[in-house]
Amino acid sequence: MGDFAFDRYLTYDEMMQWLSDVEADNPHLVEIETIGVSYEGRDVVAVTLTDREAGGPESKPALYVDGNIHAGEVTASMTCLYLINYLTDARGVDPRVQKILESRTIYIIPRANPDGAEKYLTTPEHLRSSVRPFPEYRRNYDPPGLRAEDIDGDGRVLIMRVRDDECGSWKIDPEDQRLMIERRPDDLEGPFYHLYSEGVIRDEDGDMVGDARLPLEVVETRYGLDLNRNFPAGYRPTADGAGPYPLSEPETRNLVQFISEHPNIGGALAYHTTGGVLFRPHSTIKDEDFSDDDMRMYETIGGWGTEATGYPVVCCYGDIWSGVLDDWCWEHKGIFAFTPELWDLVGRAAPETHEDPMQVHKMPAPKRQELERKILRYHDHYLGARGFVDWRSFEHPQLGHVEIGGWDVKECWQNPPRAFLSAECHKNIQFPLMFALALPEVHIDELTVERLGGGECLVSVLVSNRGYLDTCISAQARKQKAVREDVAHLQLPEGTEILTGRKTTEIGFLRGYRGGPDRQPIDSGENDAHRKRVQWTVRLLEPAVGCEVAVLIRSERGGTSRRAAKF
Ligand SMILES: [Zn+2]
Repeated sequence: MGDFAFDRYLTYDEMMQWLSDVEADNPHLVEIETIGVSYEGRDVVAVTLTDREAGGPESKPALYVDGNIHAGEVTASMTCLYLINYLTDARGVDPRVQKILESRTIYIIPRANPDGAEKYLTTPEHLRSSVRPFPEYRRNYDPPGLRAEDIDGDGRVLIMRVRDDECGSWKIDPEDQRLMIERRPDDLEGPFYHLYSEGVIRDEDGDMVGDARLPLEVVETRYGLDLNRNFPAGYRPTADGAGPYPLSEPETRNLVQFISEHPNIGGALAYHTTGGVLFRPHSTIKDEDFSDDDMRMYETIGGWGTEATGYPVVCCYGDIWSGVLDDWCWEHKGIFAFTPELWDLVGRAAPETHEDPMQVHKMPAPKRQELERKILRYHDHYLGARGFVDWRSFEHPQLGHVEIGGWDVKECWQNPPRAFLSAECHKNIQFPLMFALALPEVHIDELTVERLGGGECLVSVLVSNRGYLDTCISAQARKQKAVREDVAHLQLPEGTEILTGRKTTEIGFLRGYRGGPDRQPIDSGENDAHRKRVQWTVRLLEPAVGCEVAVLIRSERGGTSRRAAKF
């Protein structure tokens, strides 16, 4: 798919066409399936990537990646497509891709919330997530007041500044006339302004009211849902937009069902924008309540993400949100999961904020104003100065003279300007490549058949984990019983019987090659090893001599391995 340069954001139909072209060009590597439908009835699709000639997708350890559950975070979707593009295109030039396609499966859900993304991409609307009105009463009722609308017909909803020298809370920044700063009590002489979203004042029937008095009542959006508060782990109905109950929305059910039906998934990334951080669980469980070993792995894996992107790993504990997907992946499934927040306008303009990206939200006004000036200067110099719309006069039908302008949020703050999209995607696919390579990988090192006399044979198999992570992935997975023990399965021809051993033997979990000075055992006792031997005594009746015996090792998260020998 070398002809698409990742220099724009694809609408739903364009994305589906692009995906089906990739599938048609790579039939042995790519399979697209519909995993469910959205609120408005669009197909939500998952893309499965693996080299089928080297084994089916379910026989290999898997990494899960999704994007765009939040409507406006379309960079997330494009990064998913970029990853698909890279995995199908770079096999000959990047040995990591060859290894991944042969021995791993990558599941990618590029647009988890297609309705929201479509509205964001094709209308002036800014919405957080789902298009289903929420709270429920908003389906039939909109309160009276100012509603965000594109009133000057430029296709955007910007900021409207309305002069009010008595009660206005804002003034023009003397250092940069484009910016607005907060008015202080010792600012005695105007002009002062109110800042509102561009829009008009309507009554509850949706009709424009004749007379509007400042300050205005602002009507909150009817798109009040936040799908990434609707997952079951730590769900709180009081979290903003959490929805009426966990998994109340088809978009969240689709993801939870997909992950649950693919027990080979051992790692997960949910792409979002914006901020230039790698969030990790847990919003409501303290780090101290993670096992030490799991905590270390979170630091190690997160460290690879930071190495690739420069984005720090940030734990969400104690913040206002909950019910997020990565928490659920971790808490219920014991899968290491992260939420990369792509695109870091603030961090680029003010690299010092990388130290503590969350401080930006808590800054006092003077610091915030200084930061915004810095961002505007960065934007002028490096982003082609196209993300800020200069204030221009507009004759408002209700308010008279106003000015409309300000940041163009969609392709500057929330997503990179198009010229920067491809580089942002490329930087952010390095983390999943590394993560996928770290997954466990079971392997049969040796299978022998020894004749014991009297028609009896000893079948002996030596199995190991050649991957970095343990086959259980985490202590959390074992604690939650989210993963079944690895099993060795003996496949015998007719005319044989097993004397000792079980046909299907549970062998515990196999350790990966990950080290560390104080690496704790997975389990106390015999179940803790990188390599295990399993033996069976088998009696052969005459016709079985020369026939094939085989052993299949099946690890839910570490893949399968089969080897055969002759009696
Ligand atoms: Zn988001």
